[in-house]
Amino acid sequence: MSVVPFDKREGKIWFNGELVDWQAANIHVLHHSLHYGSCVFEGIRIYDGRAFKLQEHIERLFKSAELLGYKITQSLEEVIAACELVISENQLSEGYLRPFAWLGAETMNIAGQGCKTHVAVAGWKTFEDQRKAARQRGQELLVSSWRKPTAGCTPYQSKAAGHYMMSSVIKNDALAAGFGDALILDTSDYITEAPVANFFFYKDGVLCTPEADCFLNGITRQTVMQLALDQGIAVEEGKYRLADLDGAEAAFLTGTATEITPVRRIATKEQEWYFDKDHEIVVQLMAGYAELALDKVVAIVG
Ligand code: PMP
Repeated sequence: MSVVPFDKREGKIWFNGELVDWQAANIHVLHHSLHYGSCVFEGIRIYDGRAFKLQEHIERLFKSAELLGYKITQSLEEVIAACELVISENQLSEGYLRPFAWLGAETMNIAGQGCKTHVAVAGWKTFEDQRKAARQRGQELLVSSWRKPTAGCTPYQSKAAGHYMMSSVIKNDALAAGFGDALILDTSDYITEAPVANFFFYKDGVLCTPEADCFLNGITRQTVMQLALDQGIAVEEGKYRLADLDGAEAAFLTGTATEITPVRRIATKEQEWYFDKDHEIVVQLMAGYAELALDKVVAIVG
């Protein structure tokens, strides 16, 4: 299947307050955020024509900008309405929404003072075959040789483009080594997350997940923790090292795009851990998540 490049597609994009033709949604090459990484963005799943956790995602978009020191001039309600408009105008029943905000070209000084804030929302249909296959197979994670800086080094709760440079590098390293994804440790050897997803493991009757002190506290992570509690599963947030994976029965990744993806294997150069990708806890949580997302139990479990 040939994939149409993102700048050559058809449809409508919401751009600073109005719907414009897809291919006309352009900016100048000297926009501040393109050079200094301060674009903030969201990824939102559309299930059955409805944006899942829309309010939470747009609130995070505003918070992301605020953490970088700038203010989105549109209102929260306006950006939410824009998301809904993009879904209906592009007739998206299943897909992905990408709202984002960034600083314009008024200055190239690093502080970016006086830059205009821009906002856009794009949305597109997604083809879930690869992700479904990964869910069925179970993901294999390479423990990255790159580390996350510890807490306080950067505003981790800002979903800012600048944070994603290393996500790309780390994911590419894992793919080049024949793995599907990566697991990242911090500079003190604690497990953090995958390049664009949070990490959980199940051991001794407890669902464990690293404390989100140096990575994004994902909306799916929070949803899954609550779901587990509602299902009577004990949940613990803590500081875990790779050795804590010894004896773990199951592991999985969570994220808006990733949903809940079971992990089958984690490997360093020296050591490997294997998990039951069909563990009942994982299956149960996947079913619960599908129910929340779709208001009924259907396909995303499969
Ligand atoms: N960590 C990172 C770095 C991510 O990019 C994502 C995806 N947004 C997540 C975690 C999971 O976040 P969420 O569940 O809000 O999609």
